[in-house]
Amino acid sequence: MNVAPKCPACDASAVADLGHAGVCHLWRCACGLVFADRATWRDPYSNKDYYDPANQPEENYPMRITATERDRIASVRRFVRNGRLLDFGGGIGKTALAAHAAGFSAIVLEDSHKAVSDGMAHHPEIVWLEGRTIPDSIGDGSLDVITLFHVLEHLPDLQTTLAQLHRKLRPGGLLVIEVPNWGSHMRRLRGLQWEFVLDHHVNHFTAASLTRLVENTGFKRAAVEFRRTFAINEAQAWKEPLKKLLCILGFGDILRCSFLKVA
Ligand SMILES: [Zn+2]
Repeated sequence: MNVAPKCPACDASAVADLGHAGVCHLWRCACGLVFADRATWRDPYSNKDYYDPANQPEENYPMRITATERDRIASVRRFVRNGRLLDFGGGIGKTALAAHAAGFSAIVLEDSHKAVSDGMAHHPEIVWLEGRTIPDSIGDGSLDVITLFHVLEHLPDLQTTLAQLHRKLRPGGLLVIEVPNWGSHMRRLRGLQWEFVLDHHVNHFTAASLTRLVENTGFKRAAVEFRRTFAINEAQAWKEPLKKLLCILGFGDILRCSFLKVA
């Protein structure tokens, strides 16, 4: 009999043991969060650089913005048209580059030394910060927008991170979070074989559980959107209307929520 771990979103004890998936032992809390037991989980990337050529294909510089990044920034611009935007866990910086192209002053915060050093060399129009937390050089209340595209499912410490994001945003500032959608029918059909059950995904959210977590840290949800897949395939753009229909029917594997900081 396994002892139920505490939920990283609400501190209650988990109510359902979902079993092992790779290096994760997954549990569900009454708040809706599905999470890996931190006591037994080991981060497969703790000693590796995610963007090292051994782990990821090399990017071609200068980078080209694709429909995927333009779609992400369109969600931002529904609420904030310009200002200072930080992409938290921004990877190689394509989303920040799209934000810059749309008129934002764009900052990337990224843990990968490789991604940041390559980005600095090729895209000086972006501000590059290497690390896992927003440094003191970014003042409290100084950001208009913070985005996290496929980051929150990786972070063991949800509450500390969200408190920092809240502090760094101005009152009324926008937080956009995109994660895999545990509420998708695809996930129900595939169970723990679902493609987003991965060794480095320690949190799984539904629209309801993500909203509950973020609203409890001083935000109000302003929008919820679904996408069928992680990226838009530009060569098969004709499939997009079909993918939209599948999202309406509950098969959207990607969840994108926008929140405004309560003043
Ligand atoms: Zn919980």
